[in-house]
Amino acid sequence: MYKYLREEIKNLKAYDVKEREYRVKLDANEGIEWLEGLNRYPVDRSDRLRDLLAQRLGKDPDELLVGNGSSELIELAMKAYLEAGETVVSISPTFSMYRIFTIIHKGRYVDYPLQDMERLDVDGFIEFVEQSGAKLVIISNPNNPTGTLFPREDIMRIVKAVHAMVVLDEAYIEFSDLPLVDETRDNLNLVVLRTFSKAMALAGIRLGYMVGNREIIDYINRVRSPYNVNVLSQELGTKALTSDQSRASIGMVRSERERMKRELEKRGFKPFESHTNFLFFPAKEGLDDALAKRGIMIRGFGGELEGYFRVTIGTPEENDAVLEAIEEVQNERS
Ligand code: PMP
Repeated sequence: MYKYLREEIKNLKAYDVKEREYRVKLDANEGIEWLEGLNRYPVDRSDRLRDLLAQRLGKDPDELLVGNGSSELIELAMKAYLEAGETVVSISPTFSMYRIFTIIHKGRYVDYPLQDMERLDVDGFIEFVEQSGAKLVIISNPNNPTGTLFPREDIMRIVKAVHAMVVLDEAYIEFSDLPLVDETRDNLNLVVLRTFSKAMALAGIRLGYMVGNREIIDYINRVRSPYNVNVLSQELGTKALTSDQSRASIGMVRSERERMKRELEKRGFKPFESHTNFLFFPAKEGLDDALAKRGIMIRGFGGELEGYFRVTIGTPEENDAVLEAIEEVQNERS
């Protein structure tokens, strides 16, 4: 059942933090209060936030683990599953931290190129995963930086076929519509990651969560640092979940994304179809630097992605400022 987990972790007991009612609390070497209760450690497993998230997802709180951004959760999966020298497989191009985290955790990272940077040859990928002897597979769906969404059936075909743990990173899923969290209970080799940094627009509080079968979450909890999510982030995350703000913002981002795509096309660019809050497109080298000189930041890439750019969807005013600056650069260059 837990076949892909590291042996040592199977025999490790999680650090046990007891949450109890108290009159005097002197059991954790905390200091004396001076700033609004912040002398206390946070609730270890973000209980209120976890309960609320579980309710929304139709899950049991035990099927969730809250982290300091989804970045921490990617690392926790590696800590729980990866032995030194074992292989992590992903696609390319994708989120560059997968490679960096793999190397930090002493793994070997190999990637499978998407066709035309957009399509995933599912059979080819499964064969690649199996031949590489992968312990862990990480897929960003929708994918950063291309914005591509892989069909639900393709992801599930991969989960069922491979002999490895699959970490499905749904950082951008709220801008799309094919979440897979309902599949985690029955598929023990699947965990899904989500974040508050994108659709919830709260990157500053560093909050993410993992959804998985409760047995798997129980194991991954053993490699989590106690009190990993601070008091303020737990509080603000809970507040955010009861606000309608993100729904309005997601609607705006989706419509602005389509407008920006059309506007960029009018100016001769060919942005990829996007299921996220950004657009990815090829352009003449140096576009990012030329825009930066005008105070407009977009993301340029190096290496194999030289000549490709990613622009996040902002407010209509911000997007107009990008378009205006792009026109200026085009005029200057022509
Ligand atoms: N996964 C993907 C695919 C991302 O693009 C990002 C952020 N760029 C992250 C994870 C990290 O998100 P967080 O802020 O939750 O750590």
